[in-house]
Amino acid sequence: MNIHEYQAKSLLRSYGAPVSDGRIVTRAEEAKTAAGELDGPVWVVKAQIHAGGRGKGSFKEPDAGEKGGVRLTKSVEEASDEARRMLGRTLVTHQTGPEGKQVGRVYIEDGSGISRELYLALLVDRQTSRISFVCSTEGGMDIEEVAASTPDRILSFSVDPVTGYQPFHGRRIAYALGLEGKQVKQCVALMGMLYRLFVEKDAEMVEINPLIVTDEGDLKCLDAKMGFDGNALYRQQEIASLRDESEEDAKELQASKYDLNYIALDGEIGCMVNGAGLAMATMDIIKLYGSAPANFLDVGGSATKEKVTEAFKIITSDKNVKGILVNIFGGIMRCDVIAEGVVAAVKEVGLEVPLVVRLEGTNVEKGKEIIKTSGLNVIAADDLADAADKVVKAVNG
Ligand code: GDP
Ligand code: MN
Repeated sequence: MNIHEYQAKSLLRSYGAPVSDGRIVTRAEEAKTAAGELDGPVWVVKAQIHAGGRGKGSFKEPDAGEKGGVRLTKSVEEASDEARRMLGRTLVTHQTGPEGKQVGRVYIEDGSGISRELYLALLVDRQTSRISFVCSTEGGMDIEEVAASTPDRILSFSVDPVTGYQPFHGRRIAYALGLEGKQVKQCVALMGMLYRLFVEKDAEMVEINPLIVTDEGDLKCLDAKMGFDGNALYRQQEIASLRDESEEDAKELQASKYDLNYIALDGEIGCMVNGAGLAMATMDIIKLYGSAPANFLDVGGSATKEKVTEAFKIITSDKNVKGILVNIFGGIMRCDVIAEGVVAAVKEVGLEVPLVVRLEGTNVEKGKEIIKTSGLNVIAADDLADAADKVVKAVNG
């Protein structure tokens, strides 16, 4: 789960990390008061969307192509005008895709004088299963670009969870970033705060880009992007409350309400499967037979008829879906429950694309019987390969 920059900065502040003072604005009328509470002489107006590259992004009509989801302004009036202009509009950046994201919140921040822009991130390194620091002198740029063109300017290392964060980790980063004097001490302290935040809040990713050296020679977090482990939200009430549902894929959001493991993809075959492993195998075999999955969906081992119905509705609501493959291996999950759910869902929402069903395992005969007597136009399949073959053929006519 991702959060907004202003929320991330508030978290940073609560850990003692240096950030600018700022105000969040959701309605244009609030902008002037909000900006007036800040000192100036520069006010930075920042569109809050769950995507980076806002500074170089551009708005859609009116004034399509107009630059800038991050604007520096010189007065309270100018700042509130900018906030008013941004609210409600769609901002397109290289991370949003061409459809862009609607700006529902704008952050107005006290401007900083910048002497250097640096890059810093913490993430979970899957190779070592440890938390890693990544830093670079090339801040403000896309780290992917830096990694491609000047990989020698990136330092990354992981932290042993047994010792946890140690001051030498921070000093290593400080020297790699060319920090000097008081900045080294600030860096050691800041990295410790970030590591603590990362662990305590079950973060998956914390990116500060840029981390700046101000005109006064102090470190400050000028931008902040944070992502958290969705499976840990049950014990992270504070983080969970920061969720902005308007930023999420509507189908994924609906699925999460029914506790379904659903991820939207861009293929044409909708999949309903039980078990993550079988779901992965199903996606693979669809590829092997020449098509592509429209989603990953694991209905889980304890799905009810209602859950299956909901899953089916989510799949059919996807306009890209040209065919559906239901692939169930009934272990704990019973085939008749799945069959009942499928039949109920089709009766409720209709079925305009071919449906291939492969059932195996517990109560398989009962499940097949339910589908056979339902009067639905279902293509029955015997095994995984047969099912994939049939659904791909049905879709390709
Ligand atoms: P992003 O484009 O979504 O990554 O948004 P950032 O918050 O990183 O802002 C983009 C760029 O705007 C930064 O790299 C800075 O160069 C500039 N910027 C942001 N805030 C300030 C500020 O307070 N003062 C100055 N001078 N520039 C800023
Ligand atoms: Mn940034």
